[in-house]
Amino acid sequence: MDASVPEDKRPPTGYRGRFAPSPTGPLHFGSLVAAVGSYLQARSHGGLWQVRIEDIDPPRVVPGAAEDQLATLARFGMAPDGPVRYQRRSTPRHAAAVERLLADGLAFACGCSRADLPSSGVYPGTCRSGLPPGRTARSVRFRVPAEPVRVQDPLRGAWEERLEQTCGDVVIRRADGFHAYQLAAVVDDLHEGITEVVRGADLIDSAGRQQALHRALGGTPPRWLHLPLVVDSSGRKLSKSSGADPVTARPAAEALALALRVLGHPPPAGRRTLDALWAWARASWATGRIPTEPFEL
Ligand code: GLU
Repeated sequence: MDASVPEDKRPPTGYRGRFAPSPTGPLHFGSLVAAVGSYLQARSHGGLWQVRIEDIDPPRVVPGAAEDQLATLARFGMAPDGPVRYQRRSTPRHAAAVERLLADGLAFACGCSRADLPSSGVYPGTCRSGLPPGRTARSVRFRVPAEPVRVQDPLRGAWEERLEQTCGDVVIRRADGFHAYQLAAVVDDLHEGITEVVRGADLIDSAGRQQALHRALGGTPPRWLHLPLVVDSSGRKLSKSSGADPVTARPAAEALALALRVLGHPPPAGRRTLDALWAWARASWATGRIPTEPFEL
């Protein structure tokens, strides 16, 4: 990054990042960390930062939550590039992708319910070569490749995953007819030309599945970067139901300073306003400083 050229005068680099909150409640501190990390990573690469409201699971969507989350991002001074996208509006694109995978033999109708799966949760391939007699189609699953997928994360190195062993064929259209997160995220990342996915480490298990789906749909997978989780004193992931969330319990500048600490960028003393914190963070941001360990709040 050439710090002598003002940010808004630099040519776009082709980097395209996104933040994709699920509108199931207010933006909690764990999500703020993901927003700040993805935002700074995009800005430090001279890239674009888009916001996609992941409203693909209507039974879990809370009315007003998306607006509330967007207002929180604005309050912290994070302005998305381009219009905010609402994922449900891409349903026809998600449906077309499922049809394509079915037509290509890369997906199949499955008649199993959760109760039919072993306790490991790994799909044993029951309906892979056709519905067994007496079963009716419920969901659609993506046929995971037999060969291992290789995933890379700049903070966590590279690893190989045999999806047949870790999860088995992945549900892409659920029994209730809605498209599954794995499918919708991949289709939209591909469509929007996302080059780097920066999100919380709770989604690290999705990277291999999404990488395989990207390839099946003929796309180049993005790079993955997983940020440290924020946990409570008993090691549990901070959730929307956790009390005294810094996003609401503290002034915005204090919550931002804490998010930067989680991300391995503790601001120096004296940086107390949002503007001063952002200016410092943009100038100091270095991917290698982000820890992998969970942060206990
Ligand atoms: N919607 C997910 C969340 O709120 C993020 C999904 C993603 O970034 O792929 O944690």
